[in-house]
Amino acid sequence: MTICKIKTIKNNNRMSTQELLQTIYKKIEEGHTEFEIEACGQHDIGGAVWSRGECKEVNGDSSSGAGINRDEDGQLYFHITNPGQRVGAMAMDGVKIVVEGSAPADIGWLNSGAEIVIKGDGGDTAAHCAAGGKIYVGGRVGTRSGALMKHDPRFEPPQFWVLKNTGSFSFEFMGGGIAVICGYDCDNLSSVLGNRSCVGMVGGVVYVRGKVEGLAECVEQVSLDKLDKDFLKSGMPEFLKEIERPELEEELLDFSGWTKIIPLPKELKEKKQPVKEFIKNEWFKDGLFGDLVEDNGEVFGLAETGRARLRKPEWDKDLCVSCDLCLKNCPQNAINKDFTKYVSEPEKCIGCGICAAVCPRNAWKMY
Ligand code: SF4
Ligand code: SF4
Repeated sequence: MTICKIKTIKNNNRMSTQELLQTIYKKIEEGHTEFEIEACGQHDIGGAVWSRGECKEVNGDSSSGAGINRDEDGQLYFHITNPGQRVGAMAMDGVKIVVEGSAPADIGWLNSGAEIVIKGDGGDTAAHCAAGGKIYVGGRVGTRSGALMKHDPRFEPPQFWVLKNTGSFSFEFMGGGIAVICGYDCDNLSSVLGNRSCVGMVGGVVYVRGKVEGLAECVEQVSLDKLDKDFLKSGMPEFLKEIERPELEEELLDFSGWTKIIPLPKELKEKKQPVKEFIKNEWFKDGLFGDLVEDNGEVFGLAETGRARLRKPEWDKDLCVSCDLCLKNCPQNAINKDFTKYVSEPEKCIGCGICAAVCPRNAWKMY
C-alpha cells in the first residue's frame, strides 16, 4: 500500500489533534502502515496506536495486543515534521517514529516499546516514565528528562540516547532502564546533566560523557567496566546512524570522558532523617525550593481560623454602604457590626472570601 501522506493545514485551516488522530486510526484500519505527517503542533502523534502484533517478552512468552493491522514486518512507521507535545506517548512495540527536526515536551512519555528518533532537540520531560523501546535524540533534551524511567524484568529495559545534554532534575526517581548522554558539543557547560540530577534514583544506569555537577547524594558516579563499554560499543553505531551523525562514532567511543551513575546500595541510603531536619540541613538556601514563609512543620486542617487562615479579609469604611450583605452571608457568623463599622473576628473567620464576593462595593479585600 502507498505511503499515507497527511497535511494538517488546508486552505489556512489547521486540523485539530483529535481530527488528525482519528484520521490516522481510520487509515490504519484501512491497511496503511506507513505515514508521512506534516504536522502543525498536534499532540500525541504515533502514540497509543495499539498493535495486533506479537508482544515480545524477554523470556520468550508472548501475548497479543488488540487492535490494528501492521505491515509484513509487523511495523508501523511514522515520519513527522513539526509535531506538538507527546510524540510517541505510550507508543507500542512495533512502532517506529522519526521526527525530522526538533520536538517539544514529553517525547516518548511512557514509551512501551516503540523506537522514537528525534533528529533535533527534545523538550522537557523527554522519555519521562519510559518503560520500553528506544528513544534517540540528535540534540539536547530539557528539564526532568528520563525521570521515572522504569524496567519490568519481563521485557528489555528502555533505552534513552541523547547526543548532547539534559536539563536539570534529569533522571529523578529513575527506577530502571538505560540512559546514554553523550555530552557532545557541551564543553561550555558545567554539567551535561544540569543541576540536581538523579534525585531519588533507585535503579537503572545513566552513562554520561563530560562534566557532571550537583548530583544527588543517593547515587554514585563510577568508572565504566568492560560490560559497560561493550554495551556502548554495540549501541552507538545504530544511534548515530538514526540521528544521521555516523561520523562521530570514533570520538564518542573514546571512553576517556565517560562515567556511569548508579544508585548507591540500599544500606548506604538508609540514613533516615525527620522532615524538619531535612529542611534545616538539605533545603536549598534561597534557591528554587527556598521557603517563602516560615514553616515550623505544623500541619493545618482544610478550613482553619485565626492565624492559619488562607486569607484575611480587610474592610474599607470609605467604600461600605452598610447593606449588611456580608454580615448575612458569612458562613461563620464572623462579621460583627458596630454602628457602621464592620469587623471580621479572626477566631471565627476561615478566610473563605464570601464577604468580598457578595459585597456590591468591593469593600472587603482578601489578603
Ligand atoms: S472570609 Fe468568609 S468567614 Fe471570613 S468574614 Fe468573610 S465570609 Fe466570613
Ligand atoms: S457587603 Fe460591603 S457594602 Fe455591604 S455592609 Fe458588607 S462591606 Fe458594607
